[in-house]
Amino acid sequence: MRSGLVKTEAIVLSKFKYSDSSNIVNFYTRKRGRITAMIKGGRSLKSKSGLATDVLNIVELFYYEKEGRDLFTINTSELIFYPKHVITDITSLYCATSVVELLKELTPEHEENDRLYRGSEKIIRLMDDNIGDARILFLKYFLFFLEESGVGIHSESCSTCGNMIVNSEQVRFDPGNGILCAKCGFDKRRGINISMELYRLLESLNKGLTIEVIDKKTVSDLFLLLETYTRTHFETFKGLKAFRLIGGI
Ligand SMILES: [Zn+2]
Repeated sequence: MRSGLVKTEAIVLSKFKYSDSSNIVNFYTRKRGRITAMIKGGRSLKSKSGLATDVLNIVELFYYEKEGRDLFTINTSELIFYPKHVITDITSLYCATSVVELLKELTPEHEENDRLYRGSEKIIRLMDDNIGDARILFLKYFLFFLEESGVGIHSESCSTCGNMIVNSEQVRFDPGNGILCAKCGFDKRRGINISMELYRLLESLNKGLTIEVIDKKTVSDLFLLLETYTRTHFETFKGLKAFRLIGGI
């Protein structure tokens, strides 16, 4: 880690009270990845930095980073974007909260990923625009997040033999590897059957196609499949808390 003044955009991931007057805040920053920082006096109503740092807000931070130190002190935090629609719509709120949860639980500290930062900021803004289904946006983000974490799920070819998927009726899914062609699924007796609708939804999301028909069950099945897959690849992942509260997406 370098030492010096850092100026960076950031997404607020969580905020806790610390002492009588301060807050400890978790950020996903554009330049330094996930960091934890203190906002001294942040609980005062007069603190601009304190007021700017609510969960899901996008802010611009100035802070001094010092070699060997894990907890930084924020000099200033200025509000760039506040998702005013998201916090009034329950589905959008659960979806946006889950974006934040993935960043908070599964990204390594102090590891910059500009693409992941930009994609995360974009999806929060899109959810706030309230155009399109927030659940579909979230599933798209979930796939993007896995890809950026080095464990993407590819749908066009078999994860074991690499052959193109031609018969989507007999595709299987293995939580350790991903999509299996009919032959690998059968030969290795691995994976679970997935419906053609589920495979098509996965493929459309991967290819960035417009999702015309949104069947609730298929959306929910894909969500469960992504959770199981994520649990297999990240030991610490216990599922998304926001959706557990309402029993699924
Ligand atoms: Zn195969």
